[in-house]
Order: sequence, then C-alpha cells, then structure tokens
Amino acid sequence: MESKREMKFDALVVGGGIAGLQTALDMADQGFKVAIVEKDASIGGKMIRLSKVFPTLDCASCITTPKMAAAAHHENITIFTYCNLNSLEREGDVITASLTQQPRYVDPVKCIGCRQCEYGCPVYVPDEEQGGLNARKAIYIPFSNAIPQLAVLDVENCSLCGKCAKVCPTDAVDFFQQPEDFVIRADTAVLATGFRLTPADQKKQYGEGKIENVITSLQMERILAPHGPYQRVLRPSDGKEPDSVAYVQCAGSRDKSLGIPYCSRVCCMYAIKQAMLLSGSLPIADIVIYYMDIRAFGKGYEQFYQNAKAMGIEFVKAKVASITQGEDQTVALRYENQEEGGVETREHDLVVLSLGMVPDWNPAGICEVATDDDAFIKSVMPKMAPALTNMEGVFAAGVATGPKDIVDSIVEAGSAAMEASGYLVEKRG
Ligand SMILES: Cc1cc2nc3c(=O)[nH]c(=O)nc-3n(C[C@H](O)[C@H](O)[C@H](O)COP(=O)(O)OP(=O)(O)OC[C@H]3O[C@@H](n4cnc5c(N)ncnc54)[C@H](O)[C@@H]3O)c2cc1C
Ligand code: SF4
Ligand code: SF4
Repeated sequence: MESKREMKFDALVVGGGIAGLQTALDMADQGFKVAIVEKDASIGGKMIRLSKVFPTLDCASCITTPKMAAAAHHENITIFTYCNLNSLEREGDVITASLTQQPRYVDPVKCIGCRQCEYGCPVYVPDEEQGGLNARKAIYIPFSNAIPQLAVLDVENCSLCGKCAKVCPTDAVDFFQQPEDFVIRADTAVLATGFRLTPADQKKQYGEGKIENVITSLQMERILAPHGPYQRVLRPSDGKEPDSVAYVQCAGSRDKSLGIPYCSRVCCMYAIKQAMLLSGSLPIADIVIYYMDIRAFGKGYEQFYQNAKAMGIEFVKAKVASITQGEDQTVALRYENQEEGGVETREHDLVVLSLGMVPDWNPAGICEVATDDDAFIKSVMPKMAPALTNMEGVFAAGVATGPKDIVDSIVEAGSAAMEASGYLVEKRG
C-alpha cells in the first residue's frame, strides 16, 4: 500500500479567513513554520467577499488582499487550499492532522491562472461567490484576487466536452486527478474556522427563501462590492433599480424557535453600513431598517449609527411578523410598530435579511475540542486566555469561538498566536 505524504510544521492553522491569516502571520514573523489549511479553493474567508467595512467604510478587499498576499509569500507559511480536515488528534507530544487534498482536475504546478479554460467552457452555473446572483463557468478561478490563482473544475456541472483542455496553453487540465490523503504533524494548532450565515429559508413566516427580491446580507455585500454581480444596485427579479430597500434585523438570531437564542453581534452594524452605502448609490431611495434593538457595541459604532440617522436612513422599532410577495414584484412586510403601536404593512422593492452567524465547522468526530451550548468552540479560560481550548496545544480564534467583528477577530487571532507561541517555547524549554 502506498504510504501517505507526511509533513512537519511548528504550527497548523485551520481556516484561512482573516483570523487564520493573522494568526499565521503573527507566528511566522516570530520564526515558526506554519501550515494554513483551508477548505475553500482560495484563502480570504468572508472578509474578502465583503464590500466595505464598518465603522471606517474602508474597502474590504484592499485590507484583506495584502494580508492574503503576505501569507502566500511568507517564507515560513505554507498554504494548503481545497483541503478537507478528516481528523485532528494528539499523538504523544505531537498534533496529527489527517487531510484530503480535493481534486481541482487542474495540475497546480502547470496552471498559470490565464483563464483560457474559463473563457472556452460552454457551461454556465450560478456563481456562489456572487451569492448565486450571476453565473460562472464549470471551470473557473474563484474570484479575481483569489489566492492561489488556480482554476478549479466543478465536476458536478462539467459536461466533459473537453474544450477547456483543448485551449489550455500548459496542458494543465487533468480529468483523472484523484483526491490525495496526506498528514500534517505540528506541535500546536489554532482553529480559525469561522462562520456561516443562518439559513435564509428556515423561517416559514419569512417566505422560506422563495421570494425573489428577499436576499441575504452577504448577497447585498456582493451587490455593493466593486466587482459585484450587477456592477450596480439592482433587484434580482427584473433588474430594476430599487426605490425602497428594507432591512429585517435579527432575521436569524435571538430566536429560540430556530435554536439560535444569541445575538450575532455584527448584524446591526453591517445593516447600518450597507444602508449608508446604499444611500450613496441610490440617493433618492427610501432605506428602512426594522429593528428590535440596535447594538452598536464597539469603538465609534454609536457615532456610526447616529451618522446613518442623520443621512436620512429610517429606523423603525418593530418586530417583523411576516414577509410575503407584494404587488408588482414588491415585498410586503407586516410588523408590529413598537413605538407607535399597532400592526402595519409596508411594501419595498428589495428586502435584505440580516441573518446571524452559526459555526462553519463542527469538531464532533474530528477532534476532541469542546463546544459551548451554541456550538461555537469553547474557550476554557475566557477571562485569562480566551484562545485556550480544552485540548492541550490547541487554540482557537475569530468567529470560530463566537460571533464577532473583524477588529475582535484580529485581536483574538493575535492572542491565539501569542498563546500558541508561548506553548511552543515552554514545551521546547
Ligand atoms: C454580511 C456581513 C457583513 C459584515 N461586515 C462586517 C464589517 O463591515 N466590519 C466588520 O468588522 N465585520 C463584518 N462582518 C463580520 C466579519 O465577516 C467577521 O468578523 C470575519 O469575517 C471573521 O473572520 P474569521 O476568520 O473568524 O471567519 P471566516 O471569515 O468565516 O473564515 C473562516 C475560514 O475557515 C475556513 N474553514 C471552515 N472550516 C474549515 C475546515 N474544517 N477546514 C479548513 N478550513 C475551514 C472557511 O472556509 C473560511 O475561509 C460581516 C459579516 C457579515 C455576515
Ligand atoms: S487550467 Fe490552463 S487554461 Fe485554465 S487557468 Fe490554468 S493554465 Fe490557464
Ligand atoms: S470539459 Fe467541462 S469544464 Fe471543460 S470546457 Fe467542457 S464543460 Fe467546461
């Protein structure tokens, strides 16, 4: 039997979002050899998919791309993308991760990222990177500033016509590529596995994801981004520029019936940010945020909220009871107005669900790291060493441990890097 490829590093970072990248950079700058393992085809996590960031309104990709490039070019960092983590175990003094490199059906050594395959491919499928709002090809580079710049063939949708292989100048397309199992051994590991949005279709009262002009907050991030699906703000059903846009807060959080009783912390702020960006793109549109409470918890956040009010964004204190299809492709919101009393119905051209955060990864069956009741990774000493988990030598950072914004994710990543480095130094005497 062929033996698995094995590699040794000082530290393994699971997840290549902003928290994982920051942890890896902080450790690598101290001279430790770090492996980043990412399940997606590119590093960057959610932040590279955002438009601008609150409260400064800086361009998200202008901050994330240099960090991605710094990690990719760092002599002490090795990045493994498109990899599945099968198990993470402590074996004596060492942490052993068993991984599978998923086939891209493209030779990573030969591919030069020229996109000729993408241009030649005749198959169009919804582009998940753009929230499914436009199309990509069956062979594609995930997005323009993806790292690595390697094509991936989507085998589920490929018609095996062979056109990509014919036009590829380096003969990189390989229809027979197989998954490859390999092992990474490290002295410490940091879990930075981040979050997913709560499902958009989980609430019957909110149309179960079937109303076309009801979109998610991440879809709106893409619509507002410079390389977005439409290059301007349009509603999906008919490409009309919306005259009124509504935000439904706590659409997936603070709801015991969904099993998500907690506040996701960032939804108020990202809704306010998007509303401000929209009012720039659509100066005469009505922009309304339906909220239960506004949680502007960070430095400069309250001022950001007050600025939004001063810009004319309408805040309605209300619990939205139902979302239904309105007249003329509009969306009807029925809500209880908590300030003026009474139940009201109002129609909007486009409605954004401010969905919450749930963990993107569940350690059950993969490693013995414990989770809290909310399924995020448990910090065993939250007040003294927040990155510490119950598993010796294993730390956690970013939204993997609970909902938080970018600033807090980066701070926690720095803390995880310090704790993991301290652990290495102590262990090695
Ligand atoms: C719509 C929206 C707008 C936002 N806007 C802002 C904003 O303006 N300002 C702000 O401060 N915050 C904002 N946030 C919050 C921000 O996105 C997060 O704070 C930040 O992305 C957290 O980074 P992270 O690295 O912890 O997680 P992620 O970005 O989720 O990265 C985690 C990475 O780990 C990978 N991964 C997961 N499981 C595995 C596994 N088993 N193996 C390998 N890899 C794995 C994932 O693929 C991903 O790449 C917003 C959030 C949303 C939803
Ligand atoms: S697979 Fe070939 S055609 Fe496609 S990006 Fe790579 S080198 Fe270019
Ligand atoms: S073989 Fe598949 S990926 Fe290649 S061009 Fe044809 S449909 Fe596209």
